[in-house]
Amino acid sequence: PSRGEVILEAREVTRRFGGLVANDRMSLQVRAGEILALIGPNGAGKSTMFNQLSGVDTPSAGDVLFRGRSIAGLAARDIARLGMSRTFQHVRLLPGMSVVENVALGAHRRGSCGVLPAAWRLDRDEEARLLAEAARQLERVGLAEQMHEEAGSLALGQQRILEIARALAADPCVLLLDEPAAGLRLLEKQALGQLLRKLRAEGMAILLVEHDMDFVMGLVDRVVVMEFGQKIAEGLPDEVQRDPAVLAAYLGD
Ligand code: ADP
Ligand code: MG
Repeated sequence: PSRGEVILEAREVTRRFGGLVANDRMSLQVRAGEILALIGPNGAGKSTMFNQLSGVDTPSAGDVLFRGRSIAGLAARDIARLGMSRTFQHVRLLPGMSVVENVALGAHRRGSCGVLPAAWRLDRDEEARLLAEAARQLERVGLAEQMHEEAGSLALGQQRILEIARALAADPCVLLLDEPAAGLRLLEKQALGQLLRKLRAEGMAILLVEHDMDFVMGLVDRVVVMEFGQKIAEGLPDEVQRDPAVLAAYLGD
């Protein structure tokens, strides 16, 4: 994808749970080479939006487009194959397996964003290829030295980065991260921010859901703010931070 291309788009997405409208005509766009943050108080509908975008759930109304193509209703694994990877709010690693094996599992679910050279797909030695690709991703995120350690022995900040490496191993052009900074120490947040900046510079489209305003504001290009299922603000971090509706939403949190 070329920088600035709209990779992922929600158009008027609505998701109802019985009488509750968790997403109410939500629209947003994520572009290649950009970090977009989706923020809002607890219960605003952020994770629900994430689930609509990643195919974990299907909108009651509206559409989700991946590189211009409707993907609403497609299975999550088919969406992943198109080039979308996500992490979850709670770490989902195999703690007893090594760091590199955890990443190799992600390479096994490879998509087809076309960023990696075709040779990777033609290699006949599948396991060696997966491990080599995993090692390459660990190099990319700065975890190469921990390659043979047990995933469960890493500090939380490194486990989060490991999850991102696993997501990257599927060769995505868009990365969806659900609260990647939650529970991290300041230095860990800084390391995470540095990695996300690097991925952005490489042209990755990144959407992150985050509760931590400070982490978001110094990092992202644009912010979409949700409250009660609706978009209440959208814009540059500085603009959004001063928006009276946003301040009111966070005061009530
Ligand atoms: P956030 O991630 O912003 O904290 P969520 O998207 O998790 O918010 O939740 C938005 C609202 O939708 C909440 O009121 C929540 O209780 C409700 N909700 C989320 N998922 C379901 C579900 N599967 N069934 C019923 N209600 C749900
Ligand atoms: Mg959530």
